[in-house]
Amino acid sequence: MRMILVGPPGAGKGTQAARLVKTYEIPHISTGDMLRAAVKAGTELGKQADGFMSKGQLVPDEVVIGMVIERIAQPDCEKGFMLDGFPRTRPQAEALATALDEAGVALDAVVLIEVDDALIEDRIVKRRSDPETGEIYHLDHRPPPPEIAERVVQRKDDTAEACQKRLAKYHSETAPIVPFYEAAGLLARVDGVGAPDEVEVRIKAALA
Ligand code: AMP
Repeated sequence: MRMILVGPPGAGKGTQAARLVKTYEIPHISTGDMLRAAVKAGTELGKQADGFMSKGQLVPDEVVIGMVIERIAQPDCEKGFMLDGFPRTRPQAEALATALDEAGVALDAVVLIEVDDALIEDRIVKRRSDPETGEIYHLDHRPPPPEIAERVVQRKDDTAEACQKRLAKYHSETAPIVPFYEAAGLLARVDGVGAPDEVEVRIKAALA
């Protein structure tokens, strides 16, 4: 299964990807996670990406495309992969299509998780994650259990200000990839409002 999860920031891509990769036994490739790891490790890539990420801007296409093409050529991606947060621009979608074509493989599905803009800021500013397990929480709807409450962290770009910039970028840069995949007959739209369990059921139904 070669698939892509698309949706605005806070749609639940990371939460759903973590669940779906267990079912389909494919690697979870999150460009946001890869870039955050590079920033943390202080690599050249991380230094390039940091300024863009903390301001809620997109990292330039040439940086991200190279990183993903290299990653999906790894042996663990032979049977498939779940892309989360990539592609985020039309040139990224086109570069991915070319790379897959050259490798003689094709995408199976693109799932668009739809959540209204009005709900996004609350999801983002109240998002916390456990650095040890990667588990994602929401301070009101899915609070971290007391034994880990001390260690959960907030992403640097999960402020109200950066959230609004990321949302604007989503509409201007990422939404245009939707018709690209719709025209290819690959797109499934899923309502992203509700508990993670409910959304997971909807995604699996759409994929089936
Ligand atoms: P995410 O964890 O998917 O919300 O990504 C966090 C941040 O990483 C984004 O706001 C961008 O700055 C950067 N980023 C992640 N994926 C991409 C991508 N495909 N293209 C450009 N920037 C990206």
